[in-house]
Amino acid sequence: MTHHDLEPLFVSHAPGYWPQEAIADWNDAKWQLRNRVDSLTELESHLNLTQEERAGVLLAGNKLAMSITPHFFNLIDRDNPDCPIRRQVIPRIEEGWNAPEELSDPCGEDSHMPVPGLVHRYPDRVLFLVTDRCASYCRYCTRSRVVSGVGEQQLETQWEPAFKYLQEHTEIRDVLLSGGDPLLFSDDRLDKLLTRLRSIPHLQFLRIGSRIPIFLPQRITPALCEMLKKHHPLFISVHTNHPRELTSEVRDALGRLADAGIPLGNQSVLLRGVNDSVEVQKALVHKLLMCRVRPYYLYQCDLINGSSHLRTPVADGVAIIEGLRGHTTGYAVPQFVIDGPGGGGKIPINPNYLIDHSPGRVSLRNYEGETFEYPDPSQISQSSLAQLHELALNRCP
Ligand SMILES: *Cc1c(COP(=O)(O)O)cnc(C)c1O
Repeated sequence: MTHHDLEPLFVSHAPGYWPQEAIADWNDAKWQLRNRVDSLTELESHLNLTQEERAGVLLAGNKLAMSITPHFFNLIDRDNPDCPIRRQVIPRIEEGWNAPEELSDPCGEDSHMPVPGLVHRYPDRVLFLVTDRCASYCRYCTRSRVVSGVGEQQLETQWEPAFKYLQEHTEIRDVLLSGGDPLLFSDDRLDKLLTRLRSIPHLQFLRIGSRIPIFLPQRITPALCEMLKKHHPLFISVHTNHPRELTSEVRDALGRLADAGIPLGNQSVLLRGVNDSVEVQKALVHKLLMCRVRPYYLYQCDLINGSSHLRTPVADGVAIIEGLRGHTTGYAVPQFVIDGPGGGGKIPINPNYLIDHSPGRVSLRNYEGETFEYPDPSQISQSSLAQLHELALNRCP
C-alpha cells in the first residue's frame, strides 16, 4: 500500500497498464463487460501472478468464476502481490481449502426461502435474489454457492410465485433487491421489475444492493438514473472496501445517483490485508462521505467456504469502530455486524462504552477513555415523580 492510497484524492486510475486513453469505447459499459478479464491467459498478459494466484485461478473455474472489469482491473497495483484490490478479485490457492467451521450457505438463506429467490428472515422485509450475475466476482462472496454460474448450485428465482407471496404478505413493507447484481439488468427490465413491485400497495420502500457503481461506473447512465427516480422511495446500498476503489469515475457515478434523489449507503466487508486497519477504514469512510454515501454496515466476513485467509478476528472490527467513533464525523461510522451463522440475521457488535449499570446510576466511558457518571432516570420511582410534581405545583405563583 502506498501513502497515496489514503489521501482523499479521486484519481481516475492507479498509474496503469491497460491503456484506457487509447480505447475509444472505455466509457461504454457494454465494452467493459465484453472485455472482462476472465481467463488465466488474459490475466497473465497483464500481470505477473504469484504461484498462489495461478493455482487459485485454475481452481476458480468450478467454484466461483473469476471476472474483472477493465475499470476495476486498472486499479490493481501490478508490482504489489499484496495489493488490496488484487486480493478482492484474483483467486488464491487458499480458496480451495475449507475450514471445518466454513459453510456453503453461511447465513442460512436457503432454509429461509418461502419461495425460491425470496429470503424472508425479518418480520417486515425481504431479500429478493433477482440474478446470479455480477460485473466482477468478489472472492469472499457470501452467495458464491449460487453466483457466477459455475458452482454446483444454481440460483432459482420463481418470479410469479415471488410476486404472489409479496402480494399476500401484507406485513412486508421493504424489498431489498440483490443477487448477483440487479443493476446488470437492462434499464427496461429493471423498470418492469420495479414497476411490478410498486404495483403492490403495501410495499413502502424499495432498495437495491449493488457493486456496479464501483465495478462498472459506466453503467450508471443518466437514462438509468431517470428511470430509477420514478420508483421512489428507492435507496441503493453500494459495496466499497478500500479508498482506492473510489476513483473519479466512481465518484461521478455515485453523484448521478445522489442527484436522482437516491439515498446511498455503503456496505464493507472487513478483509484481512485489504481494509483491516483504522487508517484504511478512516480514509474509506471519509471518501464515501465526499461521494455523498453514508457508511451503513461493516460486516465481519461470513464463514464462506475458502475464506480463512481473508477473515479477521472479531476484536479487529471492534477496534476499528472504536478508532472511528468520536474521532471522526458520526455520519462516517458504520455499524459493525456479524450475520449470525445459520440464519441469525445481522447482529450489531459494539465497543463497550457502558462500564457499569447499577440501580440509579450508569458508568460510561467516552472515546478518549475518560469515565462519566450519569444518574439513571429509569430508576426514579412513580412516587418520587408524584412528589416532584407536587413540589413544582406548590411553587407556581
Ligand atoms: C441484510 C438483510 C436484510 C436487510 O437488513 P437491514 O438491516 O434492514 O438492512 C433483509 N433480509 C435479509 C435476509 C438480509 O440478509
